[in-house]
Amino acid sequence: MARYELKKGKGKTWYIESPVNIGVFEGEKGIILIDSGNDKEAGREIRKVLDRKGWALSLIINTHSNGDHIGGNAYFNHITGCSVAVPCLEAEYTKKPILEPAFLWGGYPFKKIRNKFLMAKASEVDFIIENTGPIMDTPLEAFPLPGHFMNMIGIRTPDDVVFLADTLFGEDILSKYRMVFLYDIEGYLRTLDMLSGLEADLYVPSHASPREDIQTLIEANRRNTLDVAETIIRESREPVDTEELLKNVCDRFGIQLDYNQYVLLMSTLKSYLTYLNDRGNMVPEIRENRLLWQAAE
Ligand SMILES: [Zn+2]
Repeated sequence: MARYELKKGKGKTWYIESPVNIGVFEGEKGIILIDSGNDKEAGREIRKVLDRKGWALSLIINTHSNGDHIGGNAYFNHITGCSVAVPCLEAEYTKKPILEPAFLWGGYPFKKIRNKFLMAKASEVDFIIENTGPIMDTPLEAFPLPGHFMNMIGIRTPDDVVFLADTLFGEDILSKYRMVFLYDIEGYLRTLDMLSGLEADLYVPSHASPREDIQTLIEANRRNTLDVAETIIRESREPVDTEELLKNVCDRFGIQLDYNQYVLLMSTLKSYLTYLNDRGNMVPEIRENRLLWQAAE
C-alpha cells in the first residue's frame, strides 16, 4: 500500500492512504482530519500532504482512542493549534492514555505494555461529541459503531463518503492475525448487520482499502468472528482457565504472542467468553481458587 498518499474520495472528501487510513474533509473553516495516525512521525507525513495542497488544519475528529488513531493529535495540536473532538468515553482514554493498557491488563500496567503502541501521547480534547448526529457546527455526521472499543464512531461526509474506523479489517489482516481486537462481540455483530444496510457512495475502513461495495468484506469479518467463537467452544470441552485457553486458541490459529498481543487477545478472549456465556454456550465455575470455563453440554 502506498504510504501517505492523498486520494480523492468524492467532492470535498479525501483520504490519506497510510497504515491507518486518515480522512480529510475540506471544511469552511479549514481542513478536518478524521484520526491522526500512529505518532508524531505519522503526523509529520500527514502534515506534508496537507502542506503540498496549501491546506490549513482546523479540527481533528477521532473515531476512537486507540494509539494508531490518536497518536498524531499532540503533534498537530502543538504545531497548528487545531482543535480535537472525541466521543465521550473515548475522550477519557485520549486525555489519559494509561487507561488503555490499564484496561487491557486489568490492573496497573507493567512496563512492557506501557509503550507507544498501547499508550499514545496524551492529547488535549477540546470538544466531547455525541456518537450520533451532526458533529458540532461541521457538515459531518457521526453514527455509533459498537464492538471494537468503548464508544467508537463512524463519520459520514456530505459527499456520502463514510469512514468506518475499525469495523472492517482487510482479508489479508484477518488471515494473518485471525483474532482481531474486540471489546463487545454482540455489539460488533450488530454493527456488521447495520453496515450491510448502510448506503454510501464510498466506504473507507481504517484498516482495509476503500471501496464502493463492502458486502464481501462484512461477510469475511462476520465469518472470522464466528469462527473464533466456535474455536473457543471447541477448545473448552474440558474445564480450562483463560491462560490455557488463550494458548490453545493461539496454537490452533498459529498466532505467536508478544506482550502487546498477549494483553489485546486476552482481553478479546474474555469478551468472547462473556458473549458465549450470555448465549448459554459457555459456563464459568470457580474451582479450587481458579476460574474455569467449560462449553455447555
Ligand atoms: Zn485501528
